[in-house]
Amino acid sequence: MHRKDLLPDRAPNPWRARCRPHEHDQSPPPLSSPIQTPQNLSNPRCLAGHHELRLRCRRSNPTTMPSLAASTSSLPAAPPRSSSDASSPPATATATATARSSLNLLRSLARARRTDLSHRALLLFRSIHSTSSSTAPSPHFSLPAALSAAAFLAALPEGRQLHALAAKIGLAPAHAVVSNSLVHLYASCGLPDEALALFRRIPAPTLVSWNTAVDALAGNGDHLAALALFREMQRDRPDLSPDAYTVQSVLGACAGAGALSLGLYAHALLLRELGGGAAVGDAAAVSRDVLINNSLVDLYGKCGAVELARQVFDRMPARDLASWNAMVLALANHGRVRESLNLFDSMTRTENVVPNAITFVAVLSACNHGGLVAEGRRYFAAMVSEYGIRPRIEHYGCMVDILARAGLIEEALDVVAGMKCRPDSIIWRSLLDACCKRNAGLELSEAMAKLALDVPDDAVSVSGVYVLLSRVYASAQRWNDVGMIRRLMSEEGFKKEPGFSSIEMAGSVHQFVAGDTSHPQSEEIYEKLDEIQQRLTAAGYKPDLSEAPMVADMDRTKGATLRLHSERLAISFGLLNVAPGAPIRILKNLRVCKDCHTISKLISKLYDVEIIVRDRIRFHHFKDGSCSCKDYW
Ligand SMILES: [Zn+2]
Ligand SMILES: [Zn+2]
Repeated sequence: MHRKDLLPDRAPNPWRARCRPHEHDQSPPPLSSPIQTPQNLSNPRCLAGHHELRLRCRRSNPTTMPSLAASTSSLPAAPPRSSSDASSPPATATATATARSSLNLLRSLARARRTDLSHRALLLFRSIHSTSSSTAPSPHFSLPAALSAAAFLAALPEGRQLHALAAKIGLAPAHAVVSNSLVHLYASCGLPDEALALFRRIPAPTLVSWNTAVDALAGNGDHLAALALFREMQRDRPDLSPDAYTVQSVLGACAGAGALSLGLYAHALLLRELGGGAAVGDAAAVSRDVLINNSLVDLYGKCGAVELARQVFDRMPARDLASWNAMVLALANHGRVRESLNLFDSMTRTENVVPNAITFVAVLSACNHGGLVAEGRRYFAAMVSEYGIRPRIEHYGCMVDILARAGLIEEALDVVAGMKCRPDSIIWRSLLDACCKRNAGLELSEAMAKLALDVPDDAVSVSGVYVLLSRVYASAQRWNDVGMIRRLMSEEGFKKEPGFSSIEMAGSVHQFVAGDTSHPQSEEIYEKLDEIQQRLTAAGYKPDLSEAPMVADMDRTKGATLRLHSERLAISFGLLNVAPGAPIRILKNLRVCKDCHTISKLISKLYDVEIIVRDRIRFHHFKDGSCSCKDYW
């Protein structure tokens, strides 16, 4: 599985489509409305429950769009707010009918959620407002539809033109429906700060405004900010009762932040707010609602409570493909590989559910986590021959990783050679990682590093390649080359991605970085860390310095650096604060290092505590001195 796959910080909410502001109405669409799930709209790496918003793949080419501002300059200023929800009085019945049919067509195009039709929606918006004709629909209604199309295309330049237009005619930020659509637009373009800034300027934000803003933050990976905004709504707007959409966004944020107790609270809220009182009819609908239950499976799966995920899944009155995908993946990520593959088999054989590309990302991840080479080959072949699914980069990535980690580097290279798409830097890094671990030789490692660096990518990815390469040189005792890499990194300004570990307690998330002293309990945490160290040493533990940062030259410094890794601070904090018998749940943004893995196993035994760590790749359940990953990660 890829390093990026469990990235907690860029998790798209697979159910975001439901949270989007409805184009023309402040009330959200009914729960049962057939909204297209986004699973076939973007890549499975996102949707395998994980995470990078790959907006660029949907980004429109601005050159293909005519300027909207020029064409709509004849739009009238907004009428006073009192008449904001009614169309302007039509000159004639024909004009009204024409305006209504243009608006209906515009809305239909925008709702279709197809690239070509969204482009047509923007062109239609331009043409219906190109003259100051009485047959044009009111911009109160047409703008949200156009903004929805721009949001689907992540077409920022066109969206900004529409924003300028809305501001010019007095609809932004004054008009809540138009402003909600703008908040959603900026969120879809990966600009959560702009979305939030606009939300703050809406004079009378409605529940939909709050939902859209919470979703804007959660969908862009600002999970903690999303949860804080939700709390703000509860505190400052007691008149607004959270609805199914609020709860779904909150569940998504909790899943992203690995915040189990907040997730349990949101689940209870869901049952309380939507499961009783006047809305009994709604409650029945909600309990049956597949998408909400899918959110719960995802939430519990990502918060380390796979048993709860399974309970929700088993009790679902109806399941769709996404439910199965979420459960197969949750089991895979928790290292319950056999259970995951058995579930896939019963899904396809007993339940006759036809798997899709995302299902196979989950299945191949299971094989990868379990080191199951033969099964991985078999499922990969079945995906193509039995189900006619064309392998995507994610499937190739899993297959390459499975083979390379098993030391079958030649075969992994054959897979890369047969790829129908261009390998990305993750694939080359996975091979380089395997070369590094297997001592596959300098020449091959250097070749992999070169190929990884040839793929244009972000600075973090480049620095990851440098770090791996320096390890290859270090293990070959090529100290001059280690020094050269170090110089390159500092000259080019590359730093390792800063690691953090977080732990949630009673609804608050405590986040630690390496060597952190900012926590109010810092003194106690370090005292506990010293005590842990003494007990570890007494138990015969010796630090493994192979993955200590290469900048720490002296072994002594390296040892000290290792001791301050963020997850150790989180474990120490957990030992101090978690109720006896309860597990310590930690979320990490990077992979757990070898030495931290070793000490986590030892601590679970010495302190008789279960430690559940979600790292970038998977979950580790440390208990009684061993880990659920069986040391294969
Ligand atoms: Zn570590
Ligand atoms: Zn492990």
